[in-house]
Amino acid sequence: MKNFNPADNIQDLQYFGEFGGVNPSISDSSTYTFLSAKTMFDTFEGHAEGCYLYSRHASPSNLYLDQALAAMEGTEAANVAASGMGAISPTLLQLCSQGNHVVSSRTIYGGTYAFLKNFASRFGIKTSFVDITKLDVVEAAITPETKVLYCETVSNPLLEVADIARLSIIAKKHNLQLVVDNTFSPLSVSPARLGADIVIHSLTKYINGSSDTVAGVTCASREFINSLKNVNNGASMLLGPTMDSLRSASVMKNLRTLHIRMKQHSYNALYLAERFEKDGLKTVYPGLKSHPSHELYSTMINREYGFGGMMTLDVGTLGNANELMELMQSRNLGYLAVSLGFYKTLFSAPGTSTSSEIPSEEQASMGLTDGLIRLSIGLDNDIERTYQMMKNCMVELGIL
Ligand SMILES: *Cc1c(COP(=O)(O)O)cnc(C)c1O
Repeated sequence: MKNFNPADNIQDLQYFGEFGGVNPSISDSSTYTFLSAKTMFDTFEGHAEGCYLYSRHASPSNLYLDQALAAMEGTEAANVAASGMGAISPTLLQLCSQGNHVVSSRTIYGGTYAFLKNFASRFGIKTSFVDITKLDVVEAAITPETKVLYCETVSNPLLEVADIARLSIIAKKHNLQLVVDNTFSPLSVSPARLGADIVIHSLTKYINGSSDTVAGVTCASREFINSLKNVNNGASMLLGPTMDSLRSASVMKNLRTLHIRMKQHSYNALYLAERFEKDGLKTVYPGLKSHPSHELYSTMINREYGFGGMMTLDVGTLGNANELMELMQSRNLGYLAVSLGFYKTLFSAPGTSTSSEIPSEEQASMGLTDGLIRLSIGLDNDIERTYQMMKNCMVELGIL
């Protein structure tokens, strides 16, 4: 990707707080005064730029974070939410009405899968789950009712890569909105530059990076973001997944170091993936030549941020996986916990945790094996030391 650097776009934002502070002042109000009644009317109609109405609609602190995330993804606008699901579900409900259809990758975040399969279906929105790496299968699933093509840049937990540029060609041909969840690959991939219409993040993960809150964002055209916030029919405005101003200010402060963190996460994950693959473990990491989408992903990424911090190891059985995770935790190599993007390594067995919404037959057919451990590699300063300690755990348990 030339001439687009998301970290520069974040660095180049300039803020002056209410009192000249280097951070913008945090807005601490649910409601806002108007000097004239006419302006209040115009604001309700959506025509008064710079006027705030009520904090479920917009607040100064949330708009700062919206602006920073839109700059990062290269979209016109953005709308933050109180969680990643608080961004995903309203976005899909805004795009789809009763009778509409979604074509989705089958390897997506468990909550998104459950929303589409069990919840949206109650309102007559049907979803076909497909192997997103097979473009002919994707296209064949499209019907006259299809409105949305949904995927994750790098899928959870199998780390399959979606060819966003080619999916966007299919989406345009059939007049669909291509919605991409970019949670696993902030800065590394800029989906809107590759043709995605809407980019979503769970800010809970890398972007906030301190595992102290849940948060989300939808990045899209000004028109779509306004539609989400419309007081009469906007899903975000009416379902109300509003982020609190205090939180949005703290997420923004963490966003500013994202580029440094991503480089270290990627460096560490590549280091471990290469070593464990050499040791003979079945290792999945998009930065490895053995990854089926390595070539494709190499063309998609903003190179300096690397291939990301997520990898999987298959240690054969669920018993092995559980023993290894418990031992690694007791040796302080990380935490047995779901989620990702923390300074410490986090590990979990997706089949029995984050992807447990997916029925076991489906898990098997998509290659989600019992012995699979998903690791979100931390910011360890000395990754060689970490490698040796992890390897010792594996040797002790007879896994290596
Ligand atoms: C965690 C996650 C979500 C959901 O985000 P929350 O902040 O937990 O609501 C969505 N997509 C992906 C890829 C995730 O990892």
